[in-house]
Amino acid sequence: MTTYTSLEDFDTAYKTVNATFKSGTTKDLKWRKWQLKQLWWLMEDNEKRILAALKKDLNRNDFESIFTDVVGVKTDILHHISSLEKWTADQPIDAGFIFGTLGKSKIRREPLGVTLIIGAWNFPIMLTLQPVIAAIAAGCAIVIKPSELAVATQDLLMELIPRYMDPSAIVAVSAGPAEMGPILDRKYDHIFYTGGSKVARIIAAAAAKHLTPTVLELGGQGPAIVTKSANVDLAAKKIAWAKYLNAGQICLSVNHVFADPAIADELVERLSHWFDVCQNGGSKPTAAASNMVTIINERNFDRLAGLLSQTEGKTTYGGDLDRATKKFSPTVVANVTLDDSLMSEELFGPICPIIKADYKQAIKNIGDLPHPLAIYIFSSKQSEIDEILGGTNSGGCSINDVIIHAGTPNAPFGGVGESGHGYYHGTYGIDAFSHIRTVVEPPSFLHKITGFLYPPFDVKHASK
Ligand code: NAD
Repeated sequence: MTTYTSLEDFDTAYKTVNATFKSGTTKDLKWRKWQLKQLWWLMEDNEKRILAALKKDLNRNDFESIFTDVVGVKTDILHHISSLEKWTADQPIDAGFIFGTLGKSKIRREPLGVTLIIGAWNFPIMLTLQPVIAAIAAGCAIVIKPSELAVATQDLLMELIPRYMDPSAIVAVSAGPAEMGPILDRKYDHIFYTGGSKVARIIAAAAAKHLTPTVLELGGQGPAIVTKSANVDLAAKKIAWAKYLNAGQICLSVNHVFADPAIADELVERLSHWFDVCQNGGSKPTAAASNMVTIINERNFDRLAGLLSQTEGKTTYGGDLDRATKKFSPTVVANVTLDDSLMSEELFGPICPIIKADYKQAIKNIGDLPHPLAIYIFSSKQSEIDEILGGTNSGGCSINDVIIHAGTPNAPFGGVGESGHGYYHGTYGIDAFSHIRTVVEPPSFLHKITGFLYPPFDVKHASK
C-alpha cells in the first residue's frame, strides 16, 4: 500500500523547485548534462529492480520490458547528452538583408520554468521519464507525478528519484486522483500529461486557471485499415503484435480493424495464426497459465469483459479470461458493426474487433469519430495510401506497420484533437518545454535612415 506525499511535503518540494529555477541553476548546460547522466545511472544501476517492478505491476516478461520501457529511455538519454549543445543553441533567423545580414536576429530557447509531469501506468518508466529527459534538456525544474496504478514502479521511482537526481530541482510526488486537487491548484509554468482524455479535461481546466501551457498526450480509437491490395499475412502479424504487446494496453495499439470484405476472412484466419504464435509458439496456454501481460486492475478487466460479453457469438478466437489473475487472452471478434459495444470507447486491451468495410467506407467511419492518436494503413497501392491519408487525420501514421512512427528518431510524437496536443521526442521535446524567444538587434545605423517612421512623420526629422 502506497503512502502518498503529504501536502506539507509537497508544499516544501514545490517551493524548493520554484526557488531553484529562479536561481538559474537548471539553465546551466553543465547541470543539464549532469542530471541526464544521473538519470542514465538511475536506469543502469537499477535495471533488475525496474524489471521486477514491471513484472509485479503488469506481469511483463523481462525482454518485453527491456524492449519497451528500458532501452528507449536509455538511448534517449544518450541522444540528448550528445545533442544537447546543438539542440539548445541559438538559431539565426532568415530575416532578410537588413535584420539578418546587417543586423542580428535569432531565436533562443528559454526553459519555461517549473513543469509538472504526470505519467501513465502502461509504460510507467518510459512515459514518465521520457518527458523528464526533454524537460531536463530544456533547462526546466520538474515535479514528477508517476501513475499510482503501477504501484511497484511508482514506489521504486519515489525511492530512486531523490537518490539520483538533484533534489533542489527535480522532485517526485505520489498521489491518487483524490490527492491531485491541491497539486493541480498550484501554478506551474508548464504541465505535461500522459493518459486518458477524461482526466485530460481536469488537467486542462486546472491549467487554464493560471493560463499554463500544456502538452496532452492522450489516446483514442486508432484503427488499422487493411485494403484488398494488402499483404494480409503481414498485416495480421503486425496487428497481432500490437494487440499482444502489453496486452494491447498501448495508446498506439490497433483499436479495431477495417478489413476489405474480399480479404476479411483471410485476415481473421491469419490473426488466429499469429496470436497462436504469440502464445508460446502455438501451445496456447489457458489465460491463467499464460505469461501474457495482465490487465492493470479489476476495474479495467471488468470493463473489457463487459464490452466483450455484449458481442456474444462473434468471437472467433480467444475470449479466455481469468479474473483472479487479471489475464485476458488475445481475442478476435469478427463481423463487428459500428454500433457494437466494442466500438463505444477506446478498448485499451487485447480484443481485436474486425469490421468488414472497404477503405473508402473506412475513411468515412474514421471521420465520424474523434481524431485518433494513430492510423495504420495496410495496402500495396500508393493511390490507396494517399487517399486514406488525405481523407483522415491522426496524431501519426505507420504504413504497412504499426507503432513504429512513434519510435522513429527525431520525429515528433503527439496527438491531434481529442488524442491530444503538443509534441515531444528529440528536438520537439526540447521545444515542448521551452519558450521560443525571438531576439532582434538591428544594425546600428538603421535608426538614422528610418526617422521618417516616427511622429511627426516628415522628412525634416528623418535623420534625427
Ligand atoms: P488516467 O488518465 O486515468 O491516468 C493518468 C494519470 O492521471 C495518472 O498519473 C493519474 O494519477 C492521473 N489522474 C487520474 N485521475 C486524476 C484526477 N481525477 N485528477 C488528476 N489526475 C488524475 O490513465 P488511463 O485513462 O488509465 O490511461 C489510459 C489512457 O491513456 C488511454 O486513453 C491511452 O490511450 C492514454 N495514453 C496515452 C499515451 C500517449 O503517449 N499519448 C500513453 C499512454 C496512455
